[in-house]
Amino acid sequence: MLFADIGLSDELLRAVTEAGYTEPTPIQEQAIPPVLMMKDIIGIAQTGTGKTASFVLPMIDILAQGRARARMPRSLILEPTRELAAQVAENFEKYGKYSNLSMALLIGGVSMGDQVKALEKGVDVLIATPGRLMDLFARGNILLTGCDLLVIDEADRMLDMGFIPDIEEICTKLPAQRQTLLFSATMPPPIKKLADKFLTNPKYIEV
Ligand code: AMP
Repeated sequence: MLFADIGLSDELLRAVTEAGYTEPTPIQEQAIPPVLMMKDIIGIAQTGTGKTASFVLPMIDILAQGRARARMPRSLILEPTRELAAQVAENFEKYGKYSNLSMALLIGGVSMGDQVKALEKGVDVLIATPGRLMDLFARGNILLTGCDLLVIDEADRMLDMGFIPDIEEICTKLPAQRQTLLFSATMPPPIKKLADKFLTNPKYIEV
């Protein structure tokens, strides 16, 4: 399959071509079409498979086609570590350079002040680690009621790091009517339970 046939917009295809990609990887080929159709998915894939683009690309198109809601984030990407969150943010900027969407990177180890300023200006996408997101939420700096597209990335690492209770709590602050994408390299029972609880009729993809 060629990228051109996967259902993404011309703006996005331009950014993908500039990134040097001609063909989608297997996870991208299987995940992008159902994500564009607003389905929940469980993607079993390791880092290095092109997993990030499999959710960032369709997310950009979904958001670019939707109506901007000022000051309300519309998507949330949860990552277990600052490094992974920063990498996803870089990907988001690279693929989204023609789509005019804004993003805030909410991770520990940097000043909350700049993050609060970004949130006050209004952003479309939050890329966050659970701890910092919970801190900002507790301080009243974030409203998640408009976030109807959630990505839980590296779920098994979230489990190893003890983040599952935080994720459960975060899920309750998002609208119940939403699209949820869960990615994990493995599917241990607590992750299966999390998926059963927070995903609706997900498409299961394993690469
Ligand atoms: P990830 O698994 O998301 O960490 O991606 C691994 C690497 O593959 C990244 O450096 C991407 O830039 C690259 N990549 C992602 N999708 C493609 C593609 N379709 N063709 C070639 N490289 C890709």
